[in-house]
Amino acid sequence: MRTLGLIGGMSWVSTAEYYRLINEMVADRLEGLHSAHIVLESVDFGEIEALKLEGRWDEIGARLVSAARRLETAGADAIVLCTNTMHYVAPRIEEAIHVPFLHIGDTTAEAVAEHGLSKVGLLATAFTMEESFYRERFSARGVQLVIPDAAGRAAVSSIIYDELCHNIVKEQSRDTYLEVVDELIDAGCEGIVLGCTEVELLIKPDDLAVPTFPTTRLHARAAVDFALPAATECRMRDRQS
Ligand code: GLU
Repeated sequence: MRTLGLIGGMSWVSTAEYYRLINEMVADRLEGLHSAHIVLESVDFGEIEALKLEGRWDEIGARLVSAARRLETAGADAIVLCTNTMHYVAPRIEEAIHVPFLHIGDTTAEAVAEHGLSKVGLLATAFTMEESFYRERFSARGVQLVIPDAAGRAAVSSIIYDELCHNIVKEQSRDTYLEVVDELIDAGCEGIVLGCTEVELLIKPDDLAVPTFPTTRLHARAAVDFALPAATECRMRDRQS
């Protein structure tokens, strides 16, 4: 089994989900008492968020590059950055390491394209929704990402930082998200990308009438596919036979 290097803590709530999902998937594929080989660098999100609000992306990049290098030194065979928003500095990390970087945007965009969809809505932090670094991963695969209007973006983003990142899940906030989703579907979206690693705590696939693309689960699955290539091939062969 290959070793996964996780950069987590953004927030710790979703990193705990990664840890659970990766281990559940490994146990499912290998059975018995097997669990994942993981090394984790967990940052202080308060410090990272303060730097983000000051626009100090160089410093954020430097810290995440250091974390990735420490993981590599600790034996990681691939790096998994457990947040969509911080993929803004993914190119810097990719340049600085010698092992694969499993990009959350590529993983999700591939899942959308495999589903045959070309126009999907995005629920994410305001930064991820408004900057181009995330959408370009989708447009490269012929997928158009549609974002909510300004009021919708503000509501979605504040629920992420004020509630979900503190492990607070409110029914009222789920209703707010569902209203935003309805508007995106009315605008022609054929699916919804849960493009923030905490959003899966609030929205489940059965909550929506269209396909959902949960980035934490998809990213965790890509990590397990990397960690267990042989087991993944066996599973695919079993499915085909
Ligand atoms: N975990 C979130 C994401 O996937 C937001 C936290 C952050 O700003 O990194 O984007």
